[in-house]
Amino acid sequence: MSVPSEFADSADSPDSANGPVEPQLTELLGRPVQFLKGVGPQRAKALERRGLRTALDLLFFFPRDYQQVAPVAEIAELRQGVEASVIGVVEEAELREFASGKSSFGALIRQDASCLRAVWFNQAYMASQVKRGDRLMLTGVPKRRTLTWEMTHPRVTRLEEEQEPPGAELLPIYSLTEGVRQSVMRKVVHRVVDDLADKLDEVFPDEYLEEHGLLGVSAALRAVHMPESREQLSAGRRRLVYQELLVLQLAIAIRRWRRERMREAPALESTAKIDARIRRLFPFELTEDQRCAIEDVRRDMALDIPMNRLLQGDVGTGKTMVAIYALLLAVAHQKQAALMAPTEVLARQHARTLERSLAESRVRIGLLTGSLTPARRRKLLEEIRDGQIDLVIGTHAIANAVAQQEFEFKNLALVIVDEQHKFGVRQRAALKLTSREPHCLVMSATPIPRTMSMTLFGDMDVTTLRNAPPGRQNVHTYWVEESMRERWWAFFARKLREGRQGYVVAPVVDEDEENAVTSAEECFELLANGPLEAFRLDLLHGRMSPNEKDAAMQRFERGETQVLVCTTVVEVGIDVPNATLMTVEGGERFGLAQLHQLRGRIRRGKHPGFVAVFGDPQTDDGRKRLEAFCRTSDGFELAELDFRLRGPGDLFGTKQHGLPPLRIADLQRDTELLALAQQDARSLLEDDPGFEAPRHRRLREMVLRRYGETLDLSDV
Ligand code: ADP
Ligand code: MG
Repeated sequence: MSVPSEFADSADSPDSANGPVEPQLTELLGRPVQFLKGVGPQRAKALERRGLRTALDLLFFFPRDYQQVAPVAEIAELRQGVEASVIGVVEEAELREFASGKSSFGALIRQDASCLRAVWFNQAYMASQVKRGDRLMLTGVPKRRTLTWEMTHPRVTRLEEEQEPPGAELLPIYSLTEGVRQSVMRKVVHRVVDDLADKLDEVFPDEYLEEHGLLGVSAALRAVHMPESREQLSAGRRRLVYQELLVLQLAIAIRRWRRERMREAPALESTAKIDARIRRLFPFELTEDQRCAIEDVRRDMALDIPMNRLLQGDVGTGKTMVAIYALLLAVAHQKQAALMAPTEVLARQHARTLERSLAESRVRIGLLTGSLTPARRRKLLEEIRDGQIDLVIGTHAIANAVAQQEFEFKNLALVIVDEQHKFGVRQRAALKLTSREPHCLVMSATPIPRTMSMTLFGDMDVTTLRNAPPGRQNVHTYWVEESMRERWWAFFARKLREGRQGYVVAPVVDEDEENAVTSAEECFELLANGPLEAFRLDLLHGRMSPNEKDAAMQRFERGETQVLVCTTVVEVGIDVPNATLMTVEGGERFGLAQLHQLRGRIRRGKHPGFVAVFGDPQTDDGRKRLEAFCRTSDGFELAELDFRLRGPGDLFGTKQHGLPPLRIADLQRDTELLALAQQDARSLLEDDPGFEAPRHRRLREMVLRRYGETLDLSDV
C-alpha cells in the first residue's frame, strides 16, 4: 500500500472521531444536546445518562440495528400474507385482561374509508404506546378477516402530525434510555446529521479514500443514520469501522514503537555458562515447544529493547518452566525479577516451586501478597529496595505497592505476569514498575482468538506452546445425570483407594463469594458424612485466611488430604499432578473457559483424569457449552466456541481488557477490516516513525483522545 502524501491538517478539534475546521463549527458540534431542537432539559438529562452530551456525540452514536420497513401500502392494496406498512390513525384501542393473567390488546386503525385491526397478545404495555388519535405506521403481515384486514403483533412507528412516512426502507434502531422514545431519538439524531454531517472535515485525503474504496465521513454518517439501501449502509459502515479500527491499531503501533525506541532495558545475555547453569535445575527434559519458547526469551532479553512477549499455551503445557528460565536469567545478571499471579494461592505455589529448584543456590526469594502483616511487609519492601531479595513472587500487591510509591525495586529487570487473562490491560500499564522499562513476559492459558490477540495484544510478540509434555494422559469428561450420582461417587472412591486425589468444585452461587463459601461448606458436610466418609477431606475457599488456604493447599500437595472441596479458587494455575479426579457441581453456572481451566487441574500427571460435571442448563447455549466441554479438550477450540456463544464483549469484556468499547466495529464480523487497519497502521508508522509529522496530526489526536490514557500514550 502506498502511504498518502498529505493528511488534511487543521485547527484543534473537540472530542470527536473527526475534528472540524472552523471555530464556528467547533461550537456547533460542541453544543450541549439540551439546546438542540426537539430535546429540552428533560430529554437532555436522559441522553446525558447515556453519555450523549453534545451534538457531536449524537453524530457518532450509531444505531445498534436496523428495521426493514416494508413498502407503504393503501389498505385496499394489501395482499394476504405479504408484509406491508400501513399508515393511519388509531380510532379505537381496547385492552382486555383475563383472570388467567393473559391479555389481549386490540386497536382499529383508520385510513380514509378503510380499516385495519391490530392485535397484540400478552403485551399489555402496548396500550401505553398506541392511543386513540395517534398517527402510526404499522408494519406486519396482513390477514384477511371477514370485515377487515388484521395484523398480529405489527411493528409500530409513530408519526407526528404531518410527518412524512420514512422514505427509507431501513429504519435505524438506537439503544434507548428511559425517557427517550425511538421516534424521538431518530428525529433528534437525524436533525443533527442533516445540519452537521456535511460540515465535518475529512481526516483522510481524497486519494487515500479512493485507494481504500472508502466513503467520505459525511456520506458515511448519512449512510449509517439514514440509509437508503443496504448497499449504502454497508459502504457507510465500512468507512466508519475502518476508521475506528485504524485508530485502535495506530494506538497499538505507537505504543510498540515507543517501547522499542527507548532501548531502556538492560541487555541480559544468556551465555552458554548461564544457560547450562539454569538448565541443570530443571527436573525434566524440556519439550520442543518449551525449548523454542526459551530461545525466544533468550533472544529478547539479550537486547536493550524491552521484551514484550505473550506466552500462550493451554493449561498444562508447561509455561512455568519458561518463566523460571527467564527469572533465573535475570538473577544470573544480578538483577531483580518479579512474578505476579492473580491469586495468592497460586503465588505461594510458584514461590514453593522456585524454592525447591533453588534450594542449593543463593537466590533469595520474597513473597509479596496482600496478607502480610504491616511489619513484615515493611521489612520485605526494604529488602527489595536494598537488593537483598532477588526474586519477588506475589499478587498484584506488587504493582499496587509500586503504584502507591511505597517502594522501588533496586534494579528490576524482568516482570512476568502469570494467567494474564485474569488481569487486564490497565494492569499491564500499571506494570511499569520502574522508571526504566523492564523486560516483560505475559503468560495466558486462555487461547486467544486471533482477532482478540490483534487488538488486545497487538503490540506484543507471541510464542505459543502447542503440545503438552509427553506421557500426559487424557481427561475423560462426563456430563452426568443426577441418577448417576451414586455410581460416580463409587467410582471416585475407588480411584481414591488406588492412590489418586480429587477436587470437588462447589457451584458458583450468584457470583457471590459468601454464597460460594456456604455452598462449599455444604458440599463438604454432605460428602464427609456420605459417599466420601472413608477419606480425608479438606476445604478450600475464599473466606479462609491466606495462611489457612496455603496450609490446606500444602496438605493436599503432600497427599495428606485426598479430597479438596473448593470454590473456583483452584481454577488458576494450581498444580498437583497426583490429583486426577474432579467433580463439578452446578456446571451450568460456569463459563466454558472456566470449566476448561478447572479440568486443567487434573491433567498434569501420568494417570488419566476423570471429571464429572453435574448440571442442568436452562438455555440452549448452556447445553451447547456442556456438550462441547465433553466433546473436546482442545482449549483453543473451546475458546473459539465460547467466543461465538458469548460474544467478545463477554469473554474479553470491556471490564476485563480495560479498553474503551468499540462504537461500531464488531470484532467477530469485521476481521478483514481489522487486518487491513493493522497493516495500514504499520505502514503509516513506518513512513512516519513516532507518528509526529504534521500531516498526521489529526489522526494522532484522534488516537490520543481515544486511547491516550488507557494505553498510557500520554507522553508520546
Ligand atoms: P501451565 O502451562 O498450565 O502453567 P505448568 O507449568 O504448571 O503448566 O506445568 C504443568 C505440569 O507439567 C507441571 O506439573 C510441571 O511440573 C509439568 N511439566 C512441565 N514441563 C514438563 C516437561 N518438559 N516434562 C514433564 N513434565 C513437565
Ligand atoms: Mg500455569
